Amino acid sequence: MIQLPESFENRMMKMLGSEYPAFRLSLSSEVSHSVRINRKKTKKIISNDSVIYCNSGFYLKQRPVYTLDPLFHSGVYYPQESSSMFLEQYFRHTAKKNLRVLDLCAAPGGKSTHLSSILPDDSLLVSNEVIHSRARILSENTKKWGNPNVVVTCNDPSDFSRLAGFFDVIVVDAPCSGEGLFRRDPAAINEWSDSNADHCAQRQKRILADVWPSLAENGLLIYSTCTYNPAENEENIGWLAQFAPIEGVNLEIPDDWGIRKTEANGLPCFRFYPQNVRGEGYFTSAVRKKGSEAVKWNAKSKTSLPLAGKAEQNLLSGFIQNKPLSLIRFEDNFLAWPTELLSELDQIKASLRIIHAGIKTGEIIRDTFMPAHELAVSTICNQTAFPQTELTLSQALSFLKRDEFKVDFREKGWNLMTYLGHPVGWAKNIGNRFNNGYPKEWRIRMSTSEYTGERLFEEAVKFPLA
Ligand code: SAM
Repeated sequence: MIQLPESFENRMMKMLGSEYPAFRLSLSSEVSHSVRINRKKTKKIISNDSVIYCNSGFYLKQRPVYTLDPLFHSGVYYPQESSSMFLEQYFRHTAKKNLRVLDLCAAPGGKSTHLSSILPDDSLLVSNEVIHSRARILSENTKKWGNPNVVVTCNDPSDFSRLAGFFDVIVVDAPCSGEGLFRRDPAAINEWSDSNADHCAQRQKRILADVWPSLAENGLLIYSTCTYNPAENEENIGWLAQFAPIEGVNLEIPDDWGIRKTEANGLPCFRFYPQNVRGEGYFTSAVRKKGSEAVKWNAKSKTSLPLAGKAEQNLLSGFIQNKPLSLIRFEDNFLAWPTELLSELDQIKASLRIIHAGIKTGEIIRDTFMPAHELAVSTICNQTAFPQTELTLSQALSFLKRDEFKVDFREKGWNLMTYLGHPVGWAKNIGNRFNNGYPKEWRIRMSTSEYTGERLFEEAVKFPLA
């Protein structure tokens, strides 16, 4: 049995009463592993064991080494704890056209990649992370997921006051005391203390208060933590109710999902306990902003962003899918960005620190196109415009490590390198050798020498040929 801090145990005993022994026992049982599939990249299911709250979520029999699976680097799936996938439920009855959505505490990108799949192409996702090194990881993961309507920013929650009334939905997946992860990550137990849990509750209030002005009237704020501590959960939702006019969001949830419904000042909240659900501890609640103080944001009719000229557009248009995308000049590159969201990007550029926006398509050097890695793994690449070279697993891993290896190309120039039919990046065939276009900073650094061949992944995660 794992050792737990005494005051944590005492609080949980009081909260759970006769259910406490089952909770305690569940902390010694096996953790489940799950992934969410990128439906824009494959329609296949990977097992019959699906996550009940999420259309694209699946449990795995065992945890593969994700780093050594090229399909992870292609953004075909994202490993995510299943309780977190419940986020999808809030969008089941929300009108989903032209939404402006902020994921405030977004790294490493589980909720952002999920939101990016839930939202239609005409909606905007601002995916923010305050810690710069973590914002870089978030940027990498959202680029791999591949949708063009995403901006990754690195800002403090207070910076969002510059965008008063801008967002229709704000997701606050708050930094917390992590009690719900004790089973999965025993190190979280050592970091836990009463005073740290109190500190987390104060920080969460500050985050909520800072971001509140940027929520539009009737906008939805979805709050979540991975802790059981009421001070970080219901008490924060209740506190929000005293501070601003809000309405709770109820969800009809079948009893057999095992989720416990609680409330804060009459506002519905949902708790996930490992003795009742097939996932880790989690809390979530959503409120709608009411009242008349909200500022309405008005889009400008003309963008000040530097758009590509006619000749550049003509050259680039064949390489991207025929979607309503604009090409914006950025340094030596061209970014593909949804045309109907230009005004929003203008506003974000003026207010926030952008890490990346849209899909970097590539450079034009002396009238020839040099594709960017992001385009290869994006959902907007016109794959038929490039010769494709399929790699074996061992070749694909060498490619992702930027190691030297032998491969037969069918054509000279830029080839789209694929594994099981999914792009992993670019290589330029220059005759007797090739240039590897995989980003140096993303390369796999892990040793593959102990790796025993294709069976590992094929047994753990069955990805049939797309
Ligand atoms: N939503 C993420 C996902 O699904 O992958 C997980 C987010 S994690 C629970 C909380 C995040 O909040 C961390 O990335 C952390 O760096 C960030 N954070 C820490 N302090 C913060 C603060 N004061 N304001 C906003 N975010 C903060």
